[in-house]
Parts: sequence; structure tokens; C-alpha cells
Amino acid sequence: MSFCQNCGKELQDDWLNCPYCNQIESSSSNRKEFSKKISYGLGFTIIAITLLQFILVARDMELYHLKRDWGVILFLFGLPFSFGLAIVLNANMK
Ligand SMILES: [Zn+2]
Repeated sequence: MSFCQNCGKELQDDWLNCPYCNQIESSSSNRKEFSKKISYGLGFTIIAITLLQFILVARDMELYHLKRDWGVILFLFGLPFSFGLAIVLNANMK
């Protein structure tokens, strides 16, 4: 919920300008756009790091002939991966 900087009336989040005085709320939509970009960056970074770690660990397991424990792998990589995905999807819906 935001307020018009000009007349102080309550504004809906998806209103681009104030219907009472027609003041354009550029600052709030800019801020929203900015936080959306931050969310995208953060989400994709988490996904990329998770995938990279997964590849490295999978390669090490191959190297040392370790038994792949999929329960641990899913827990270690599935959680941060879905966390990153959730951030990206959330940013997409804003
Ligand atoms: Zn206004």
C-alpha cells in the first residue's frame, strides 16, 4: 500500500498515477521494478550456485567412487534450488 506524494491519498499498488490529482507515481513503480530485478538476480544466482555445486559434488563422487546418496543430495541441493526458484517465481508475479 502506498500513498500519493502530492495529495497523500491512499493508492493501489498497481495504479501508476493518482486518480485524485493525477500525480504520476514514478518513484514507487521504479522502486518496484528495482526490487524485482534484485529478486531475479538473487534467485538466478542461488540456482546457478546450486547447480554448479551439484556438478562439482557429482564429479567428486565419480572420482572417489562414492555411493551416491540421493536423499542427502536432494536435501543439500533441492532445498536451495527450490528456494531460488521460489524467489524468481515470486518476482515474476509482482
Ligand atoms: Zn494525489
